[in-house]
Amino acid sequence: MKDTKTVLILGGGVGGLVTANLLRKKIPRDHKVILVDRQANHIFYPSLLWITINSRKPEDISKPLVKLEKKGIEIIQGEITKIYPDSHEIEVDGTRYSGDYMVIALGAELAPETIPGLTDGGYNFYTLDGAERFRKAWNNFKSGKLVVITSTPLYKCPAAPYEAAMLLEHDSRKKKLHDNIQVELYTAEPGPMGVTGPENSNAVRQMVEQKGIKYFPEHQIQKVDVSSRQIVFSSGAEVNYDILAYVPPHRTPQIVQAAGLVDSSGWVPVDRHTLETSFSDVYAIGDVTGIPLKLGKPLPKAGVFAHYHAEVVAHNISVKITGKGKSTRYNGFGSCFIEIGGGKAGFGRGNFYAEPVPHIKMYKPRRFWHWGKILFEKRWLSKWF
Ligand SMILES: Cc1cc2nc3c(=O)[nH]c(=O)nc-3n(C[C@H](O)[C@H](O)[C@H](O)COP(=O)(O)OP(=O)(O)OC[C@H]3O[C@@H](n4cnc5c(N)ncnc54)[C@H](O)[C@@H]3O)c2cc1C
Repeated sequence: MKDTKTVLILGGGVGGLVTANLLRKKIPRDHKVILVDRQANHIFYPSLLWITINSRKPEDISKPLVKLEKKGIEIIQGEITKIYPDSHEIEVDGTRYSGDYMVIALGAELAPETIPGLTDGGYNFYTLDGAERFRKAWNNFKSGKLVVITSTPLYKCPAAPYEAAMLLEHDSRKKKLHDNIQVELYTAEPGPMGVTGPENSNAVRQMVEQKGIKYFPEHQIQKVDVSSRQIVFSSGAEVNYDILAYVPPHRTPQIVQAAGLVDSSGWVPVDRHTLETSFSDVYAIGDVTGIPLKLGKPLPKAGVFAHYHAEVVAHNISVKITGKGKSTRYNGFGSCFIEIGGGKAGFGRGNFYAEPVPHIKMYKPRRFWHWGKILFEKRWLSKWF
């Protein structure tokens, strides 16, 4: 009898989607590739920011995962309630599935409810539903103060809140409401995109401040008083707002914690080059991982890293299954667009594993990079489906 293998991929976001596609191409059809996600649709999250300013509709940035079945990828839509990394098994809505290899790509869990008043007092633009709700409120917002806030220093896409503030500021200009709307940005972290180095961080800060956005770093939110529309920070400072858009706290999904996959960092430790966990043939990729860097900050959580992790893991599993080719390693490369509004974006890229600090080159905002992001979005949603 032929030795057929099953690869279980947990999560159909960036990392899971790429792993499933690449593995399916690399290993013969008699081996199974199973992808499990609670959501019916894959969402291209970088475009959520364009949802908030009416540049995209939810259907423009979503694709049904079930489309992957025509390629020979089995899709299970359901809630993963348990992970058994020792035996490579999972439970999905009460049914057990097992595999020979397991790729954990469950991302980061958002926990806005851990900050009193945040859920009721503001809009979570890190979810499709939240971005849509914010868009509707923003469309009716004609005057007052918009506050954009990060709840903790660690969140996915370190550029996103800065981009959000700049895109919304530009949108208020476009609607000729600029004289009536003030934009303020409060962040828990000491500056934008700190992992990219002080020079790049200052460059992004300047982009923000040149737009007239008031920027207040190192403001750790403690609670929101919904009735008085007031944010209270841990320093005791208080700020009023008229409309609030927030990045919620992030944490490892609880099922990943319960499976004993997490260390004291709160995330899943992996070999930073192969994404192997401490369990044999169990890999973790993307936002769920905690990869410390020499400078004392972790590798940022971003789709670009989940994507490159997936390439390495798909390749190495295929080498193990087929016995053909050589294993490969992730080298720390990453890149990112930074939308600033008005059809322009900056771009940064480089080696995040460089020591003692990452080597990141930042390119000034231009139309070229904005079009680059649009092209990337279109290609993403066609290439993988
Ligand atoms: C507003 C915004 C803008 C962004 N912009 C950029 C950008 O410009 N560039 C960039 O590189 N990154 C960007 N990102 C970050 C990027 O989207 C994430 O880093 C990336 O999606 C991480 O990929 P992942 O595969 O690790 O996790 P995810 O893409 O989050 O996928 C995790 C999947 O697991 C599923 N899941 C979780 N728990 C369960 C469960 N118990 N049962 C079943 N399914 C489950 C989820 O439904 C989800 O589909 C942005 C994010 C946001 C919110």
